[in-house]
Amino acid sequence: MARDGFKMVLLGPPGAGKGTQAAMLTKAYNLLHVSTGDMLRAAIKDGSDVGKEAQNYMNKGELVPDSIVTQAVIERLGKPDASGGVILDGYPRTRAQAESLDESLKNNNNALDVVLYFKTSDETAIQRLSGRRVCTECGKNYHVSNIPPQKEGICDTCQIDLIQRDDDQPETVKNRLVVYKNSTKDLISYYKEKSLLREVDGNLSAEELFSNIGALFNAEGLISDDSKE
Ligand code: AMP
Repeated sequence: MARDGFKMVLLGPPGAGKGTQAAMLTKAYNLLHVSTGDMLRAAIKDGSDVGKEAQNYMNKGELVPDSIVTQAVIERLGKPDASGGVILDGYPRTRAQAESLDESLKNNNNALDVVLYFKTSDETAIQRLSGRRVCTECGKNYHVSNIPPQKEGICDTCQIDLIQRDDDQPETVKNRLVVYKNSTKDLISYYKEKSLLREVDGNLSAEELFSNIGALFNAEGLISDDSKE
């Protein structure tokens, strides 16, 4: 169980397994998963103005402007269900976003507790992104070989066709990795200086990584597993 107001950031390249770990951690530790990628994809699906603007950037693998994303995250963190523990997945992605987040948390007498950095090779990231398939209904992620659905190409839960995200196409994937290196990698030193950064091995399987993260939480007394209370 995490203390109220607990905040954890998942940092790493696209394809590092942040979304998969966030789903597992959310369940095990009763946290709220706040994924800016999911929020933006929902805005696109709704046809909102934010969604229309975001889509142009996302299709090219570029970052959506800080102002749009930061406002959405701050609004989300202000909702009642975000008062317990929260996992931020895919945010912050730039130094300006990290500073805005610090400022907003500070204004609410809060601060980040830990930043998990998923150190991941380009080969692993590309293999995962190119094989990723998604259910547009429930949002669950699969992988053609690493996490296959029971029936090929069909969501286990919703029984509808899985799709490949537009930004998981090879050219866009390449650009997303470049964008990560140019904009997001800088955050590693930002959080290291604040002694918040903990490195984990993003090349491991989902189960191995989940177990290592649990061991790290225990060693540092960050949060405990609800099922063991
Ligand atoms: P993700 O699902 O985290 O891989 O995000 C998919 C896309 O959404 C990214 O390639 C960006 O275009 C956009 N996006 C998600 N989070 C952010 C963010 N924090 N800042 C800017 N753009 C973002």
